[in-house]
Amino acid sequence: MNLKDIGENDLKSNLKLVSKKKPDQKTVVDVKNHKIGGDKLTIIAGPCTVESKEQIMDIAKNISERGAHMMRGGVFKPITFPYGDPLARPDKGSDKSEPDKDYIPDKKELLKTAERRLKYMAEAGKKYELPVVTEVIYSDTFDMMNKYVDMFQIGYRSMMNFDLLRTVAGTKKPVLLKRHAGESLRAFLGAAEHIIAHGNPNIVLCERGIMVPHTHRPESRHILDVQAVPALNEYTHLPVILDPSHSTFHRPYVAPMSRASIAAGADGIEIEVHPEIEGGAWVDPLNPLDYTEFKKLMIELKGIGKVLGKSI
Ligand code: PEP
Ligand code: MN
Repeated sequence: MNLKDIGENDLKSNLKLVSKKKPDQKTVVDVKNHKIGGDKLTIIAGPCTVESKEQIMDIAKNISERGAHMMRGGVFKPITFPYGDPLARPDKGSDKSEPDKDYIPDKKELLKTAERRLKYMAEAGKKYELPVVTEVIYSDTFDMMNKYVDMFQIGYRSMMNFDLLRTVAGTKKPVLLKRHAGESLRAFLGAAEHIIAHGNPNIVLCERGIMVPHTHRPESRHILDVQAVPALNEYTHLPVILDPSHSTFHRPYVAPMSRASIAAGADGIEIEVHPEIEGGAWVDPLNPLDYTEFKKLMIELKGIGKVLGKSI
């Protein structure tokens, strides 16, 4: 057996809380009365980052009209280099000047900006009845974020940040746990086991692309592991969703991979939607669907769900 594979002993001893005890065991996670993992599919849509109050209000209105159940949006971004953090920019449309490209914001400033944007998100979520999910990066921001968010996202880079896993467990709020692109399902389920073992069973797993030797296009950094859906469904009772935006990184691939995710048996998808698709988004400008594309996709997903006995 490859050491990265899940063995019988893992299921009994190491993954005792996340593993299935009976073939039909399934957890339903409740996010502010929206249920993830039942007979209804969950579509989480929204921008990569919250850019202004007007932007998030407009996106919330348009995704809710098209049938989304929850809204996503980043207020902290994992960035590869320390310079030019997009979230250090003033709100889109404001008359404040842009920081220069080498600017490194201090944490206090990032926190203040993030809180202002979380307020926008919470207000938009409330108005359009969309529970909101956003990524948490720093353990010491949970108390501040807890007031505004309905679900915490642990990004792929943080899957093995055990301090973050413990702290998110302590909040008892639902968690959207993303799989690291270089990690096995064994390690992914191990991260979920940490959260449950520390007291929070409300976890939704999210596959968002894995590292492979080639990816069809230079911008597609990862490949969506659709096979992870039946594999995870075999091992665990936790709901499973997929993120076709961050895996394909290429807009024309996003709708086909969303359809494939639902067809493979996922409980939903998390997808980036932004009104300006031609490079308008502050972060990840190459992958968001616009409102028209999102509407078309929702109709297609409804059809696929119907065949499988799941409504949207
Ligand atoms: C995101 O969803 O905003 C994000 C950064 O995703 P990932 O952690 O999958 O890269
Ligand atoms: Mn993004």
